[in-house]
Parts: sequence; structure tokens; C-alpha cells
Amino acid sequence: MDYNPIIFAGCSYTWGEGLELYQETPKWIEARKSNQHHYDILKITDESSIKFREENRFAGLVAKHYGIDSYVTEENGGNLASSIRHIENTINSGVHPKVIVLQHTNLNRNPYHYDYSCNCPVCLQSGWVSIFDVMDWVNRYQNIITNMSHETLDDIFTFKEIRGYYFEKLVSDAKINRQENFESLYNKVKNVFSYLAKTNLEKIIINKFKKLEQNHHLFFLDSWHKDSSDILSEFDYITDRTIPLIGGDGKEYKGWGKWQDTLDNFPISSSYPHTDNHHPSLESHKIIAKSIINFFDKKGIKFKKGYI
Ligand SMILES: [Zn+2]
Repeated sequence: MDYNPIIFAGCSYTWGEGLELYQETPKWIEARKSNQHHYDILKITDESSIKFREENRFAGLVAKHYGIDSYVTEENGGNLASSIRHIENTINSGVHPKVIVLQHTNLNRNPYHYDYSCNCPVCLQSGWVSIFDVMDWVNRYQNIITNMSHETLDDIFTFKEIRGYYFEKLVSDAKINRQENFESLYNKVKNVFSYLAKTNLEKIIINKFKKLEQNHHLFFLDSWHKDSSDILSEFDYITDRTIPLIGGDGKEYKGWGKWQDTLDNFPISSSYPHTDNHHPSLESHKIIAKSIINFFDKKGIKFKKGYI
């Protein structure tokens, strides 16, 4: 191979969820008439559909443009920790990417230290589950907490279930006490998510990024998740490396939300309303690919081996 590939990492947006629906075949034309989420699509997908998705997602379009390979995870979905794991595993398998493009997603999908290789007691005990699990815990008790408002929450604070220690740690980090009402509890959990994101980005993630940058170009796409995008935008290290996306008005946007607002046909549901699928449309993937190519060309990045 004369050309270095690109590793793309991210979530279902990078994987290309739902693009199968754009195939003009009887099966997919029929599928457009009903709700189509990951598992619905998985049930009827086949080899040619997988090929179509892989070729038409932005990673595939960029790879085709340069005549190079792209490495995307086999499985749909992901978070920052799984993205880094995918990048490291791919490099360790002998792949030498010229460029790595990491699409940020919802930061709350990450485990406690945003790192699946962390073996601290909290990560071990939690089984590296997402910090968002604690929000499920809050939601599960929503009715009890709402009705009890300002009364003691002793029953809820026993932490006897599996992952009890993990929840106890998160509740303690969040400085939640037994007198919270649902609203204050919810806000404190949101605040601890934000605190964990900033701390982990600063102490763990950016160091991992800097290590990758010693041998590869590393660029980002912003997160579609507003709270995560707001946190990421506080880090110059990240915004300096974020690829601007070309809006419907021809202007460039580093922030995902503002960019998406300029597009008339961002989600798949704008093409096929009955699918209720809000992942990027085929048109959006093309715009993202064009934005990435435009950015690489402006930077003078060449993929032929031997170029620096
Ligand atoms: Zn840990």
C-alpha cells in the first residue's frame, strides 16, 4: 500500500446508522414506511446493505475521495472511551494512519474515568458502565422522590444493589444528601457529569490525544449532544483541532448544533418521516465528508506514504 489510511472513531453517526434506507430497492423502499431504528434495520440488513452504508457514510466518502482505506468499528454506537480503544487497537494491529478523525458524542456515555483500561477500584467495581447509569437510578426513583419531597431518602440510599458502591461514589461526588428533592437531585447529578467530563478531559483524555499526536494527525468533529458540545468548547486543545462543518448558508461551523440548524434536511426523518430516525441523512453525510476533505486540502495533508 502506497497510501496511509484514516481511522474514524465516534458513535452511530460515524458508523452510518440508517443509511441503508437510502437504497432504491423494494425492501428498503417498504422499510421507509415504518419506524426504523438500529434493531429494526439490523433485522433486514444484508451484505449489499452493509456495503452501501460503509461506502456512503462520511468515512467511506472521504476514503473514496483519496483512494485510501478507512477504519471504523464493526459495531454500531460508541463513546469517547470506546473511540480511544478502537484507535489504539487499530494502531496496535499494525495499521499506520496518517490521520485520525474522532467524532465526539455524548460524554455521559463514558465510564467513570473515561478509560476502559482503568483498573482503579471504582472502575473495576462498576464494570466500566456508563456514568449515565446513575441517571437511570435517579429516574427509577423519580416518583418516590417527587412524592416524598424534602423527606428522608433512606430507602433509596441503601445502595444494596449490584453496582451499589459505584452509585454511592457518584452520589458522594455529587454531594447529594438525603434531603434532596427530585429537581435538586437531578441538577446535582448533571453537575457531577460536567465535573467528571472536565476533570477526565484535562487529566486523562488530552494526555492520550497528545500521545497519539506524536505519530498521527488528530482532528475532531464536535458532539451533537449540546451539553457535551458546551463542555468540549471550553478546551482550546479540542476546538483548535475541530474540523469546521460547511453549513447550508456556506459558512463554516465548529459547533455541531449551530451547523445543524443551517441544514434543511439534517436527519433521515427529513427524507423519510415514518422512519422516525434522527441520525444524519445521506445528504448530511455528504456535507460532513465535503467539510473534512476541504479541511484536509486546506491543511495540505497528503496521504501518500513518505509525506509528512
Ligand atoms: Zn478508574
